Amino acid sequence: NVTGKVKASEVDGLSQHFPLCMSNLHQSLRKDKHLKHGGRMQYGLFLKGIGLSVEEALVFWRKAFGNHTDDKFQKEYSYNIRHNYGLEGRRVNYAPYSCMKIIQSNQPSTGDHHGCPFRHFSAQSLEATLYKNKVGAPQVNEIVRLAKDRHYQLACTRYFEVTHPEMQSGQVGTIEHPNQYFDMSQGKLPD
Ligand code: SF4
Repeated sequence: NVTGKVKASEVDGLSQHFPLCMSNLHQSLRKDKHLKHGGRMQYGLFLKGIGLSVEEALVFWRKAFGNHTDDKFQKEYSYNIRHNYGLEGRRVNYAPYSCMKIIQSNQPSTGDHHGCPFRHFSAQSLEATLYKNKVGAPQVNEIVRLAKDRHYQLACTRYFEVTHPEMQSGQVGTIEHPNQYFDMSQGKLPD
């Protein structure tokens, strides 16, 4: 268990290693100073998975929701954060969501930023996001095609390979979990 390794102040720097689903949530959070419930769950549990302790999670979300009063934050959000860490309610220590879960359940609606960009973005916004992340045109076409053909995790894997040319192809396997993506982006290969 790596919980406790990462400080709230380190999340911005580490976000360069996030898969698109999580960098989308991170950027939306920074832009709006808010995330809806589905986004807080998906992103909060991912952050727990990268090693944010509950204390650091409370610091992170309090700062991120800078427009809220302390009172509103305590009432509406801190319970849920503690709940994700198994400190409230039924005291279940919730696991970060897998790709399958993100792709198949809880479809995002307007104003939501959770979900998987390869599954839930329009082809146009996926394309724009890939170009923004400096993917070349032939690879953008290839990745968008994979996503259109419903090979979402393969599209994500291809995106990983293209943006991590230092990794040898064949080393990557298939992306199954956002936290696996994060570990591999830092050079930790699966067993
Ligand atoms: Fe995130 Fe998985 Fe989708 Fe990649 S395939 S963007 S890791 S949910």
